[in-house]
Amino acid sequence: MSIELRGFYGGMQLEGHKTESLTRPLQQASLPDFLILPLKQHIGEANRSLVERGERVLRGQLIADSSSSISAPIHAPSSGIVRNIEKRPIPHPSGHSDTCIVIDLDGKDESIQQQVVYLDSLTASESIELIRRAGVVGLGGAVFPTSEKLLRASENGIDTLIINGAECEPYITCDDVLMQTYSDEIIRGTGYLQRIFDPVRTLIAIEDDKPEAIDAIGQALETQTLTQTELVIIPTFYPSGGEKQLVQNLTGKEVPQGQLAFDIGLLCLNVATCVAITRAFEQGESLVSRIVTVSGNGIAQPGNWETRIGTPVDHLISLAGGYRVDQQDSQHLVMGGPMMGFSLSSDCVPIVKASNNILVMQQPTIPMTPGYHDECIRCGNCAEVCPAQLLPQQLYWQARAKDYHRSEEYKLFECIECGCCSAVCPSQIPLVQYYRAAKSEIQASKQALIKSDQSRVRFEFREKRLLLKKQTDEERRRLKREALQKNRLQNKAADSTVDPVQAALARVRAKKQARGSSPKNTTELSAIQQQQIEEADERRRAARIERR
Ligand code: SF4
Ligand code: SF4
Repeated sequence: MSIELRGFYGGMQLEGHKTESLTRPLQQASLPDFLILPLKQHIGEANRSLVERGERVLRGQLIADSSSSISAPIHAPSSGIVRNIEKRPIPHPSGHSDTCIVIDLDGKDESIQQQVVYLDSLTASESIELIRRAGVVGLGGAVFPTSEKLLRASENGIDTLIINGAECEPYITCDDVLMQTYSDEIIRGTGYLQRIFDPVRTLIAIEDDKPEAIDAIGQALETQTLTQTELVIIPTFYPSGGEKQLVQNLTGKEVPQGQLAFDIGLLCLNVATCVAITRAFEQGESLVSRIVTVSGNGIAQPGNWETRIGTPVDHLISLAGGYRVDQQDSQHLVMGGPMMGFSLSSDCVPIVKASNNILVMQQPTIPMTPGYHDECIRCGNCAEVCPAQLLPQQLYWQARAKDYHRSEEYKLFECIECGCCSAVCPSQIPLVQYYRAAKSEIQASKQALIKSDQSRVRFEFREKRLLLKKQTDEERRRLKREALQKNRLQNKAADSTVDPVQAALARVRAKKQARGSSPKNTTELSAIQQQQIEEADERRRAARIERR
């Protein structure tokens, strides 16, 4: 079986700068004194901390999670005491701070008891849930929660499984050394994915500038039995590792705008994600480390380190021999590569799940912030290289004018931020930075709109509730008034049928009767007493007659 490569639109040939960091084998980074773990290290909802200040945690312990399906939990990468949960600078293009769990490590690296997983007894959905609980995200840079991707793929059904070993951006070699070092785990992970999805075919794609990785994967494939699996060597051409570009190159299928590969029956996963899946299945291990390249002309000893998530960047820099002495004042730090990376304002930020590379350069490789630059001369170079087939110069004008409605019409969100347009622009316009700023503002205004909509709905609900209460109270008062009025009228009607004089007499009689029936007056006199009273009355009468 051999497939015909179809190529993809746009792209460009770049100088690789890969050998600098490949001169040393993969090294294990030592534990730093403390780790900084941002609660959000993936696309989707932020996690909530499950630990408190002063609490002891063990390696692999769940420390942050979310109830949202588009999220990935965070686990403690080593043992220690939670120092604090606080806002810290995080590695992000915005340069903003975010909530992080800071753990002071005790150096013991004690682990929780790993659960034994009986793979044969797991259903597909149980396997995907296990991957979710392990906090696995796409390690190729997208950091999309892998379980969510697998769930959507299983709903659609998968025809072709693609394992992405096309690490196309200059300077970055972490996937290359991963394929050389953990080729067996990659192939076993591919086998687990085949068992979940039962694809018709599986393609493992590696660029031709990685001969050791190709050999290692080829040998691992020979020793393990996988069904309908082919190792495909593709030309080194940027951005051949982009998901849509790789799909088009391998299958000829174009993923429609606004959709992802799993929407058209393809599942594409990075080689490092594959290893994380294998470790979750075989060892019950959560995603607590990754391989990070440290490279560039401003670092003393470039190389690759297997690094715990949360390790401060300055710790890795010191493992790589520190900044080159002659470059200390002018070093420029980038997280990621020169094409898709973003500037770091300091080396105090932590390594996160998305960190594939720390690039230390003497000078910025491309302008990193929108600022002074020459005007667009409408040369059209940017449109020729755009792999997403967009009109970068139009997007630039719209982003500059903050005409975000038109930006969306011109498919701003289809831009994969590959940086090809910026790289070929003769006016050196930092186009990608304009697009990133526009995307952030659009997303922020959409969030604000959602929030204001929610506030409006809450306000309207409260107003309705108060109005309803007012109406109910008024109705109750009206009914009471009517009842009183009706009572009064009935009494009046009853009174009008009686002679007032007779009625008054009747009332007097009733009163007298009431008095006569009082306990005092109802006391019965004995017959002797009665006789004595009568005799006294008689004597008073006789005395009156005599006096006359
Ligand atoms: S950064 Fe965006 S607009 Fe520029 S070439 Fe890449 S995909 Fe096209
Ligand atoms: S490459 Fe630069 S100058 Fe040329 S059209 Fe694009 S934005 Fe304008």
